[in-house]
Amino acid sequence: MVKLTRMLIDALHRPVKDLRISVTDRCNFRCIYCMPLDEYRWMDREEVLTFTEITRLATLFVRLGATKIRLTGGEPLVRRNLYSLIEKLSSIDGLEDLCLTTNGSLLAGQVGPLARAGLKRVNVSIDTLDPDKFRRMTGRGNLENVLAGLFAAKAQGLRPVKINAVVERGINDDDIIPLAEFAREHGFHLRFIEYMDVGNANQWASAKVVTKGEIVQTLRAHLPLEEFVSRGGGNAPSVDYRYADGKGEVGVIASMTEPFCTGCTRARLTADGRLVTCLFSPRGHDLKTLLRRGATDEEIVDVIVKVWGGRADRYSEQRQESLNSGSGYRAREHRKLEMISLGG
Ligand code: SAM
Repeated sequence: MVKLTRMLIDALHRPVKDLRISVTDRCNFRCIYCMPLDEYRWMDREEVLTFTEITRLATLFVRLGATKIRLTGGEPLVRRNLYSLIEKLSSIDGLEDLCLTTNGSLLAGQVGPLARAGLKRVNVSIDTLDPDKFRRMTGRGNLENVLAGLFAAKAQGLRPVKINAVVERGINDDDIIPLAEFAREHGFHLRFIEYMDVGNANQWASAKVVTKGEIVQTLRAHLPLEEFVSRGGGNAPSVDYRYADGKGEVGVIASMTEPFCTGCTRARLTADGRLVTCLFSPRGHDLKTLLRRGATDEEIVDVIVKVWGGRADRYSEQRQESLNSGSGYRAREHRKLEMISLGG
């Protein structure tokens, strides 16, 4: 197996520490801020990497310095037998953290096998606790099933169980406090996410972004929020706050107003095996063809090293510079891969 003699860093001196793997582009929800409707060509089944192929690439990334893997999608739990991928990944030497981001709708039925396979923690996306609004925001989701999944994860002993909530102005900004109170009451770690201009198909506009500043101000007006605690474990994107009464923490991921490109150590693998070096990339680098034509580990590593070594992405910082300069940033002028193909 390939041995590393030096740490892999990109053109801006950022190592590769995290790998996000999208296991499918299919999703059983149609969230308004994420899901492309007409513009997207779904991946053919044979294009999607097998669990063996994913595990081989993941192992190489761990050899190159990645210590954390997150499975995402699309909706990862619509991929059949996901637990068996967890089982394979959790036995990779050197992998310190393996987690899952899910809409939670299928979690209650799968969390037992997932935990037994080695899953330690989970993030569940919930943007509102109002069942009608939940259905509208997700296109078809049933809040009751999602909450059942969330509580099943807690009962199964996964820790932490986090909730991700995207906040869109005029849609669910009035859900900030109900979500925060719910998370405090039940011991879930809540993170609000600023609405991002990912993909091309949502109707993103900067006016729809509820900023971290606004979210924190709203929280502070109703709850005993303490000063900034940390940038969630070093280079994590979430800025975390503590409640003064000791009832947990809350975080905000401020990709729009406080971009964190400088500390971004995240590589992404699409379900069809493309290596993507930024959430806002227009394209990925095909690793599947290499894999399927019988490349050795050394050959694959060479390609990963070359792609990562040339990485100079700092899209969110550039977007912010453009927004600040008033030069008229228009999200749709920047073609990007869709979120469902490369995972959030
Ligand atoms: N289906 C899974 C889920 O719902 O968590 C995993 C994939 S989803 C693309 C991952 C995360 O991206 C979710 O938390 C979702 O809310 C977030 N997301 C999607 N579109 C977004 C956007 N435009 N801005 C901010 N976050 C977004």
